[in-house]
Amino acid sequence: MSKLDKVVHEKYGLNSKFKFRCHKDIKCFTKCCSNIDILLTPYDVLRLKNRLKLSSAEFLSNYTYVKIDEKSSHPHVMLKMKESAEMECPFVTPEGCNVYTDRPANCRYYPVGQGTFKKETEKGTEEEEFYFFVSEPHCLGFDEAKEWTIESWRVDQEVDLYDRLNREWKGLQLRKDLPGHPPINDKKQAQFYMASYDIDSFRNFVFESKFLDVFDIDEETIEKIRNDEVELMQVGFRYIKYVMMLEQTLNLKYDAEKFRKKK
Ligand code: SF4
Ligand code: SF4
Repeated sequence: MSKLDKVVHEKYGLNSKFKFRCHKDIKCFTKCCSNIDILLTPYDVLRLKNRLKLSSAEFLSNYTYVKIDEKSSHPHVMLKMKESAEMECPFVTPEGCNVYTDRPANCRYYPVGQGTFKKETEKGTEEEEFYFFVSEPHCLGFDEAKEWTIESWRVDQEVDLYDRLNREWKGLQLRKDLPGHPPINDKKQAQFYMASYDIDSFRNFVFESKFLDVFDIDEETIEKIRNDEVELMQVGFRYIKYVMMLEQTLNLKYDAEKFRKKK
């Protein structure tokens, strides 16, 4: 692949090749870490708040802001840049990223971008992933000789883990408000936000409200989510799908008990 000038909207696959290298001695080092929009995923927030030893509420309040997505009215959490002239990322230093091993998925992907679209097939609606490249004038990495495929880049940047853990949530991003219908209300937005990003509040909601009296969650899952934040996050995704009425991802206890009695 030749040097690219900007965001390329052409769709690429896992075997597509490109040349790129990012390293400390390159002239543009850290130039990409200012004045950027970085959408954080739920797993990004988990990794970062644990890295910084903060509660989810502290992390969200100190390092993020909320942007309401125009098409879905979902609240999205964005990384807040510094209020300086350069608008640097709060984690960039002259030596590089100081949360590097826990950096967000979007930083890992760069200069590759990933998208998903829905297509109609004989089997029904299917989701297909594609890739694109982002080439900004300040980024000199494309002038370097190191060759990659998108697949080898993904392995090197460890994005598989992020994609696997965020997959269900990313699927939710394809939901759009119906034309002519009102956007989702404040209550649903608050539920979406809590279950996506504020894991400590979601844990309190699960264990200290009537959640476990209302929903039929098996004992094994309950034990897992007491101490495992990733498992709890996955239950959060099921909860969002349920409240958005996208899928029957949770069953009401009352219905489950009635069903068991009938058997
Ligand atoms: S999190 Fe790290 S890699 Fe991402 S923009 Fe900030 S400093 Fe750069
Ligand atoms: S601008 Fe490009 S090459 Fe330079 S540090 Fe950022 S990603 Fe690396």
